[in-house]
Amino acid sequence: MNTILASIVTPNGKVFEGDVHMVSVRAVAGDMGILPNHMPVVAPLKISAVKLKSFDADQYVAVSGGFIEVRGDQVTILTESAELKKDIDVSRAERAKEEAERRLSELTEESPEYKAVQNDLKRAENRLDIASRH
Ligand code: ATP
Repeated sequence: MNTILASIVTPNGKVFEGDVHMVSVRAVAGDMGILPNHMPVVAPLKISAVKLKSFDADQYVAVSGGFIEVRGDQVTILTESAELKKDIDVSRAERAKEEAERRLSELTEESPEYKAVQNDLKRAENRLDIASRH
């Protein structure tokens, strides 16, 4: 069976590199499932889970947006931060969620920080969602 060489890269280094059967991502324009022989594409991603389907099991990785590039049988995801499910610190994400909710409750939608704090909340919720998956 054909495979894809998938890598997830952040400014701190590679979070994942390996051969997988399918990569599923949540792009800004919609969900994408990438199998071998996919057409070339570059697309921005949402704060979301990347699913890596491989021989033995599925793996989930939290990504804070970024981009996916598909070229040949290589998929590269470039993102500011990414964590494998097993590396997610749940209490840290819970604290980040509470802090973001507290700050949002003190802001109006017009305030300059509103979007950034909303994204802080989304990153924390995404980590918690992925950490709670089986
Ligand atoms: P926090 O407020 O807890 O720092 P954040 O969303 O602001 O969270 P990021 O800026 O997205 O954090 O990431 C900074 C670094 O910390 C990255 O290397 C990221 O992988 C890591 N990181 C952030 N939150 C967690 C977490 N809950 N578990 C594991 N690593 C995390």
